[in-house]
Amino acid sequence: MFENLTDRLEKSFKLLKGQGQITEINVAETLKDVRRALLDADVNFKIAKDFTNRVKDKAIGQKVLEAVKPGQMMVKIVHDELAELMGGETVDISLKKSPSVILMSGLQGSGKTTFSGKLANRLKSKQKKNPLLVACDVYRPAAIEQLKVVGESIGVSVYTEEDSKDPVKIARNAIKKAKAEGNDVVIIDTAGRLAIDEQMMQEIEAIKKAIEPDETLFVVDSMTGQDAVNTAKEFNERLNFDGVILTKLDGDTRGGAALSIRTVVNKPIKFVGTGEKMDAIDVFHPSRMSDRILG
Ligand code: GDP
Repeated sequence: MFENLTDRLEKSFKLLKGQGQITEINVAETLKDVRRALLDADVNFKIAKDFTNRVKDKAIGQKVLEAVKPGQMMVKIVHDELAELMGGETVDISLKKSPSVILMSGLQGSGKTTFSGKLANRLKSKQKKNPLLVACDVYRPAAIEQLKVVGESIGVSVYTEEDSKDPVKIARNAIKKAKAEGNDVVIIDTAGRLAIDEQMMQEIEAIKKAIEPDETLFVVDSMTGQDAVNTAKEFNERLNFDGVILTKLDGDTRGGAALSIRTVVNKPIKFVGTGEKMDAIDVFHPSRMSDRILG
């Protein structure tokens, strides 16, 4: 679908060499290819522009022009810079208290409930934790049912109060229950809407204030492109979340949302979702995402 960026750059450098006139201006020209690749990957226009400007200075400093394979060298510079911008390293969630409380936020359909299950499953199987999942969506009975099905499939308890209309109380009661029953992690799945909505924001802010979670995670569908960035910005302004979960990376998106979101909200992307099954979860690796964006 997309032409590989390395090939593209090699081609354009070869062309330039043929003309015997490689200059800084020519480097700037090839950087347009880099920018195009970023835009193809759905990176926000301004972010792509700022990025290529930074890479230009680096490329000139590192004598790309004298390299035997300038295209490859350029791609390496671009790759490393991208990975660095996305945080450089993987960032784990903080589970210091017992119980540690994790609050999930995000729009309806972003993959919150699925991810809550995946995270519980991972903590249970890899870290021998005893998590409790909590259904705090008081508007959609189907959402409560969905979390129950998820919990059952991974053998994790799910706390619900089916007649309650008070998510703050449900969350508080769930934490009490976790303390009493020895659950060391509490994962709270909240109500989302199809679009940003004031009532939803006030509700999740109230939950956060009341329970003071160790981690507030924002879940976003990587297929939603620029919308993902705007949603992340609004949720971050209201919740000051600790990390981002990028779902549906098994789709055909190139993942530019990762760079845009990271740049705009300056919060680490902690995990990615790569499928509908409970084991389709991975920690976020900036370097791998950089490969993916560049193609
Ligand atoms: P919620 O409304 O935010 O709780 O979203 P759900 O967890 O119900 O997910 C919405 C839809 O996206 C469901 O059909 C999930 O199976 C699907 N989904 C969630 N995460 C992923 C993922 O990483 N990859 C794919 N392909 N589908 C996902």
